[in-house]
Amino acid sequence: MTRKLFRPGGPLGIQDLGNHQYRMNISLPPDQDGRIARECPRSGCSPAYFKVRPGTGLAGMAVAYCPYCRHDSAPNDFATREQVRYAKDLAVREAHKGLDGIVKDALGIGRSGKRTFGGGMLSMTMTYKPGALPSVRRPYEDEVRRDVVCPHCALDHTVFGLATWCSDCGEDIFLTHVQAELAVTRSMVGDMERRRETLGPRVAAKDLENCLEDAVSLFEAAMKALSRRRLASTGASEEEVEARLRKLGNGYQNIARTKELLPDVLGIDLPPGVEWDRLGEAFEKRHPITHNLGVVDRKYLERSQSHDRHGREVRITASEVQTLLDDVMAAVSASHAARFGSTPPSGAVEDGHG
Ligand SMILES: [Zn+2]
Ligand SMILES: [Zn+2]
Repeated sequence: MTRKLFRPGGPLGIQDLGNHQYRMNISLPPDQDGRIARECPRSGCSPAYFKVRPGTGLAGMAVAYCPYCRHDSAPNDFATREQVRYAKDLAVREAHKGLDGIVKDALGIGRSGKRTFGGGMLSMTMTYKPGALPSVRRPYEDEVRRDVVCPHCALDHTVFGLATWCSDCGEDIFLTHVQAELAVTRSMVGDMERRRETLGPRVAAKDLENCLEDAVSLFEAAMKALSRRRLASTGASEEEVEARLRKLGNGYQNIARTKELLPDVLGIDLPPGVEWDRLGEAFEKRHPITHNLGVVDRKYLERSQSHDRHGREVRITASEVQTLLDDVMAAVSASHAARFGSTPPSGAVEDGHG
């Protein structure tokens, strides 16, 4: 009987399916945080990459979903390039073991690794030393640091940026992602007194300015994500959607402009129950902070009709930034509900960034 390239069993649980087909089970090692990387197989999906914690969420599902585009496919189809490389390396290593046996058989070399030909006056010994097995490097995966737990199925997963869908149950958990991001800024604002004591008032003021900028950036990112989803749902091609989003520029950094974009891009009326004016005033403070080191200029005074005197610094307080974070959540939730019809998530939010 001739030897086969792969021996059944072993650490990979190899099965011979006949006709030179084998099945082997490769378990993927989790990263140091106990997570396993996944990648959406749909070409054109971006960022496509995410991680899940094994043992959370739903068990034995037939399909998994992409958190970014909701492409659904068998869970195995979400293997990353590194995982495919790792699986191939393991298979090659197993094949090397089989190859050694095949070479020994072909040369008629027994267990001793030697074969002696002839005898008497002329004899010759042939030795076969199998080479070292190729080493297998563990999959090297990217760092992704936005952790959330799905409020519907408890899947603990990690994404890049703001994702929309739960990879296990396929529910819309966009607001859970937004809430988790806001919670990060909220905890920074909450740490402000300690920072003031240890690092002084200038650092604390700078921290608050950065948190205000974070709130504006997060609002912009969330509204852009809603816009992208809405435009894609109208049947526009990916290029058309991205071109339209580029045209918006930084419109969502300004509440007056946002009020125009809501009917135009999201196709909704200005949602009630949101403090749009208070949101607008807080957003206006961003301009002198970003472009003028926090010193009030005429442009800011004209736009904001603020009582801060020209040439003085813009004042922001920790409670003002906390209110801004609440207003951002309310505005994004209301816009999301008006367009996509779901309610804000409750609980089950894990604070990201360690
Ligand atoms: Zn995708
Ligand atoms: Zn879920």
